[in-house]
Amino acid sequence: MSEQITGQITVAGVAVDTRHWIGGRRAASARTFTDLSPIDGSALGEIARGGQAEVDAAVTAAQDAFPGWAATPRAGRAAVLRAIAEGVEKRLEELAAVETADNGALLRSHRRGVMPRVAHNFRFFADWLESLGHDDFDTRGHANHVSWDPAGPCALITPWNAPLMLATWKIAPALAAGDTVVLKPAEWSPLTASLLADIAAAAGLPDGVLNVVQGLGAEAGAALVEHPGIRRISFTGSVPTARRIARSAAANLTPLSLELGGKSPLLVFADADLDLAVDLAVEQYDNAGQVCLAATRLLVESPIAEEFTRRFTERAAALVQGDPREEATDVGPNIHPRQVDKIDGFVRRALAAGARAVVGGERGDGLYYRPTLLTDVAQDSEIVQEEVFGPVLTLQTFDTEEEAVRMANDTRFGLAATVATGDRERARRVTERLVAGTVWVNCFFVRDLRAPFGGSRESGVGREGGTWSFDFYCDLKNTVTAPKGWSDH
Ligand code: NAD
Repeated sequence: MSEQITGQITVAGVAVDTRHWIGGRRAASARTFTDLSPIDGSALGEIARGGQAEVDAAVTAAQDAFPGWAATPRAGRAAVLRAIAEGVEKRLEELAAVETADNGALLRSHRRGVMPRVAHNFRFFADWLESLGHDDFDTRGHANHVSWDPAGPCALITPWNAPLMLATWKIAPALAAGDTVVLKPAEWSPLTASLLADIAAAAGLPDGVLNVVQGLGAEAGAALVEHPGIRRISFTGSVPTARRIARSAAANLTPLSLELGGKSPLLVFADADLDLAVDLAVEQYDNAGQVCLAATRLLVESPIAEEFTRRFTERAAALVQGDPREEATDVGPNIHPRQVDKIDGFVRRALAAGARAVVGGERGDGLYYRPTLLTDVAQDSEIVQEEVFGPVLTLQTFDTEEEAVRMANDTRFGLAATVATGDRERARRVTERLVAGTVWVNCFFVRDLRAPFGGSRESGVGREGGTWSFDFYCDLKNTVTAPKGWSDH
């Protein structure tokens, strides 16, 4: 297709360039793919579909830009990161509107929560960089010095459920570290990455430091992670893709960070504040269930299960499902027809295996899936063990703390866990035994960039956040200098 087709489109009143961003210039591709809006299934436009050639060009641009950016003093890099944060804030309404049109998550969440955090990601790592001290110590008279050297060009591969937020979790620390990056956004939500490229350029980021190659995972994504010029791979997405990427990384021994899926539990003990526990459970329908951390397995202590289910059902029935641009909407659409089919497949198979849909259990109109709660599910069943990534929760009961912990830990994932209890001692005992990267007690989704984030088992490799992100993007170097041997002595 022609360059005119892969050019500018207007989405929610905002002009978005649908081409790649390579070496500070827009670049078209001969081929395109169609980007759909989950709100009504309509086509938003044709997006450049990159492959080996575009990836080669982007990695070359990142390699060329690397020495200059790596040599930029910390204060200079921090100033550009802060200017990007300001640019994000200036265009916050536009970013929120385009993201909602593109991935269907609630506009009010994008406005009030997600986009401010995108700006925060840049400010946080600007502050981090400036507060980074020197690690110098004496070793039997030798001067021992530790430095955080930039690693080189990084490949960043991101999913569609929180596109800009997750991309900037990687971009901000990588740029702070002095690395250059090539971002391959998810093909179901490619647009805000393109706006970020405009914002970064306007903020004074030198050409080639941030590159965006649009395209499909098996084409642009695969070419990027296989590229020998890449020094780090940071991936957020599904387990099957992670396995492929890990194999590519192994060929070049490229260090990698993997943030993957989950099947997290919410443990509700009989001593919990029941209203709070129900609130926490209903919150799991946020973003139509397309949240890696979502506590999709409700584990409820038997004596309160009936009352919990009654209150939960009441609350779930009151949720407003519809257009994510409306302020009153609680649950929007799912991302793509294929995702809705996948969700429905899980639910049909669970029902066929004997599950009962206490809430929902079916498609709504278009790409909207009814918030669903399934009971009568076996611990080893597909619906309890596999990530659905839609508004589908299961409810199981337990009789003892021991059983609750055993059920909570009994999947191949370990991303997060939430505990609702009124007993501090129980909270301590249970949280100690849960296998999860993040554990919340009587709360959910409270996230601080200073804390590590990531998963155990098949939920990931490595951690993101503060020092964990920053160190990942650096080559740590130890220089030891002897007191003797100087010609001026
Ligand atoms: P996905 O694995 O299908 O795709 C993620 C990205 O990988 C996309 O950009 C895709 O184009 C790319 N990709 C696909 N095949 C590739 C290949 N062979 N080589 C290189 N890149 C390739 O995942 P998704 O469906 O976009 O996202 C949903 C998944 O992401 C869920 O499992 C969810 O739990 C997970 N997720 C995890 C976190 C976390 O922080 N742990 C956060 C959000 C989402």
